[in-house]
Amino acid sequence: MTGTITNWAGNITYGAGELHRPASVDEVAALVAASTRVRVLGSGHSFNEIAEPGPDGVLLSIAAMPPLVDVDGAARRVRVSGGTRYAELARAVHTHGLALPNMASLPHISVAGSVATGTHGSGVGNGSLASAVREVELVTADGSVVRIGRDDPRFGGAVTSLGALGVVTALTLDLEPAFEVEQHVFTELPLAGLDTAAFEAVMSAAYSVSLFTDWRAPGFRQVWLKRRTDQPLPEITGAAPATEKLHPVPGMPAVNCTEQFGVPGAWHERLPHFRAEFTPSSGAELQSEYLLPRDHALEALHAVDAIRDTVAPVLQTCEVRTVAADEQWLSPSYGRDTVALHFTWIEDTAAVLPVVRRLEAALDAFAPRPHWGKVFTTPAGVLRDRYPRLDDFRALARELDPKGTFANAFVRDVLGE
Ligand SMILES: Cc1cc2nc3c(=O)[nH]c(=O)nc-3n(C[C@H](O)[C@H](O)[C@H](O)COP(=O)(O)OP(=O)(O)OC[C@H]3O[C@@H](n4cnc5c(N)ncnc54)[C@H](O)[C@@H]3O)c2cc1C
Repeated sequence: MTGTITNWAGNITYGAGELHRPASVDEVAALVAASTRVRVLGSGHSFNEIAEPGPDGVLLSIAAMPPLVDVDGAARRVRVSGGTRYAELARAVHTHGLALPNMASLPHISVAGSVATGTHGSGVGNGSLASAVREVELVTADGSVVRIGRDDPRFGGAVTSLGALGVVTALTLDLEPAFEVEQHVFTELPLAGLDTAAFEAVMSAAYSVSLFTDWRAPGFRQVWLKRRTDQPLPEITGAAPATEKLHPVPGMPAVNCTEQFGVPGAWHERLPHFRAEFTPSSGAELQSEYLLPRDHALEALHAVDAIRDTVAPVLQTCEVRTVAADEQWLSPSYGRDTVALHFTWIEDTAAVLPVVRRLEAALDAFAPRPHWGKVFTTPAGVLRDRYPRLDDFRALARELDPKGTFANAFVRDVLGE
C-alpha cells in the first residue's frame, strides 16, 4: 500500500511512503531479515511517533496475516494473532463462554499494539491489558521466531515492549468465565470534601470506575460505574444518578457509547465506553495521560484543579481511572497501584503542547509516567529514572535485536542510546 500513511488521529504522518503487508510469518521473517530498520504499525491509535520507522525504515502491518483466534476452553486461554482488534477477539472468546478480565475505553485497537504501550482500562483490581498475556511470539531481526512465556526470565520485558524487540505475530492470553456488567452513570461529584477515603470508596465502588471532568469547575461531571452483576450494587454518595444517557465528551451523541442505566449485558459490550461500530471518543482530538501512584491521587487532582484555567480551554474531557500494579518493566503501571489522569485535548497541537508542559510541571512531584502512546514532552532522561528495570529492558533489546533494527528515534531516546 503506497501513499500518505497517518495515525488514527491524523496528527502524525509516517515518513515511510509504503505500508508493507506481509501475509504470513515467513513473509514477515523475509521482509525483516532484508531490512535495516523496521517498525510495526498496529491499528494506528497512538498519538505520537512511537511507530515511526524513520528515514529509509520499513513500516509494516500484520493486519493481512490470516486472523487467528484459537480458544482453549479447558485451559481458559486464547492464542490470537497480534493484529487482531479487541472487538473481534472479545466476540470470539465470548462465544466460548469466556471473557478477558478487562478492556480499554475502545475495542477498535489491536492486541499487540495495545499491550506494547501499556494500554489499560480501569478498576482497582484490574491490571493493564498486558497483565492477561502469558506468552508472546516474536519474529526477531534475523527472521527467527522466538516465544517468550511467563516462566522465561525475559518475560518482564517482552509484552510492554514499545515494539522494540521484533514483530509480535501472536500472543496467548488468560481468560476467565464470561460475566455480565451493568453500567451506572452518576453526575456532579464535587472535588471539595473528597478525602482519600472517599476517593478510594468511589474508585472501588464497582469493578471498573471512571470519573470525567472538563475542569471548567472543580469536581467531576460524570462518574461511570461498571458493575459485574455477580458483585454488590454500587453506592455513591455526593453524586446524583444521570437522568439521560451520556457521552464522556460534552456535546457528543450517547448512541456512540455502550449501554447505560444499569441494563445488564455481556462484559465486552459494557467494559469499553465506546461501541465497536461507532467512532470512539470525539474523533477530532489529541490525547495525553499520566500514570502515578494511586496514594497520591487526590494531591494530583488538586494540582490539576489549581491550573484548570489553563487546562480547560484546550480540553474536551479528562478521565480518571485506576490500574493495579503489573510486572512489565516498561509498563507505566509497573510495580505500583496507579491512578491514571487522562486528557482528551482539542485537535490543535500548537495550542495543546504548552498546556501539556504546564500539566507535566504541575504533576512532576508525583513522578508520573506518561502513556507511551499519547502526547507527552517529559524528557527521556527524566523518564528513565521512573523505570527501575530499564537496564534489564535495554539488555533484552540488545540480546534480541543486536543491530537495533526495531529501534526508532523514540525508542533510542527512551533507552538513552
Ligand atoms: C479514541 C482512543 C481511545 C483510547 N483509549 C485508551 C484507553 O482506554 N486506555 C489506554 O491505555 N489507551 C487508550 N488509547 C491509546 C491506545 O490504546 C494506544 O495508543 C495503543 O497502543 C493503540 O494500539 P494500536 O494497535 O493502535 O497501536 P499503534 O499505535 O499502531 O502502535 C503502538 C506501538 O505498538 C507497536 N506495535 C503495534 N503492533 C505491533 C506488533 N504486531 N509487533 C510489534 N510491535 C507492534 C508499534 O510499533 C508502536 O510502537 C486510546 C486511543 C484512542 C485513539
